[in-house]
Amino acid sequence: MATTGKRVTFVCYVCGSNNVTRDAWARWDVKAQEWVLGDLYDNADCQDCDGETKLVEVELAPVRA
Ligand SMILES: [Zn+2]
Repeated sequence: MATTGKRVTFVCYVCGSNNVTRDAWARWDVKAQEWVLGDLYDNADCQDCDGETKLVEVELAPVRA
């Protein structure tokens, strides 16, 4: 039986929503013709709280085949 490994999500530590974003920068990759994610910053925002938050990593149930 194949395992897909641990799956996680990140949620707002205030309200528990996963409608959250992180600050980051992206660099244009000419060869790939797409934006490549660079550094992630620690700043996180919750779209539901409409402000800065901290993220909590939550483990998800494995996907059933
Ligand atoms: Zn929130």
